[in-house]
Amino acid sequence: MKPYPIQCVSIVIPVYNEEESLPELLRRTEAACAQLTQAYEIVLVDDGSRDASAQILEDAAAREGSPVVAVILNRNYGQHAAIMAGFEHSKGDVVITLDADLQNPPEEIPRLVAQAALGYDVVGTVRNNRQDSAWRRWPSRLINLAVQRSTGVAMSDYGCMLRAYRRSIVDAMLACRERSTFIPILANSFARHTTEVLVEHAEREHGDSKYSPMRLINLMFDLITCMTTTPLRLLSIIGFSMALLGGLFAILLIVLRLIFGATWAGDGTFVLFAVLFVFTGGQFIGMGLLGEYLGRMYSDVRARPRFFIEKIVRAEPQPPAAHTHTPSFTNTAQVQS
Ligand code: UDP
Ligand code: MG
Repeated sequence: MKPYPIQCVSIVIPVYNEEESLPELLRRTEAACAQLTQAYEIVLVDDGSRDASAQILEDAAAREGSPVVAVILNRNYGQHAAIMAGFEHSKGDVVITLDADLQNPPEEIPRLVAQAALGYDVVGTVRNNRQDSAWRRWPSRLINLAVQRSTGVAMSDYGCMLRAYRRSIVDAMLACRERSTFIPILANSFARHTTEVLVEHAEREHGDSKYSPMRLINLMFDLITCMTTTPLRLLSIIGFSMALLGGLFAILLIVLRLIFGATWAGDGTFVLFAVLFVFTGGQFIGMGLLGEYLGRMYSDVRARPRFFIEKIVRAEPQPPAAHTHTPSFTNTAQVQS
């Protein structure tokens, strides 16, 4: 891993109805950024707020020499879409995302930048003392586990949006044209070196979480479908197991019928179960097959870059040498001509 030179740092913050948090957010973020040795910009994306958030952002950006860039969306598109909009208008070598509700302390920004400068593509965070209710904590623990299983990327906390991404990773994410996505996981699919730092996590001071249970479920599906089409394949697997079970059950019934006679077999009642199993299994296999096609179409429609080239290393072309060069050159020249 090579150190990564950073000239400019961008902070991207999605904002949705956060007028009470904004003044303190701006003050603390600017103070934290002032500690940086690099140039910086703070890109705040208003995600169709219905309160005064957009106006506050516009005013902050209009100040003389302000580091704030205000990106105002016409309506609410969701946190991750808003972050993408921020990415599109950021120009830093490292981009840091952050929540507007001050649950992630902006004071951690210099630490994340320092980690990115060491050469990490993605710097994640682990919440030290998570201040969320239990019903919010358990689902996310489950999600973390599932992600770890299916992407193989070992990160322990995907719920915390305080993260740093190297420019190349941001560009790769921007090249993904899909509409619903989950940024921390998308980033990991393009990253090579990742690390996590422990950060504090505060309680939300103003307002409530912008995620209702319904939106949370939606986010969970975004998260799952953005990383894998395995659930579709599960249909086939269930189907095959069911049909197999039905077949085995039928064989068992025939054998027992031959041993114990027709009365034992309840005059064929159980056979119905076996037949049912086989047919239901067949249906699931059919659905799974559809799922396989659907999964492939989904990948194509999503049109993610097929691969992500980190760098290309090639030998420099040799400058044409003068006539009076070593004999070895003459030899190669002869071979080539
Ligand atoms: N947010 C957004 N659009 C939305 C919902 C949320 O831009 O539709 C922003 C919100 O303003 C905050 C961040 O995303 O900066 C995280 O939202 P929230 O704190 O409500 O989520 P939680 O902490 O409960 O996961
Ligand atoms: Mg929050």
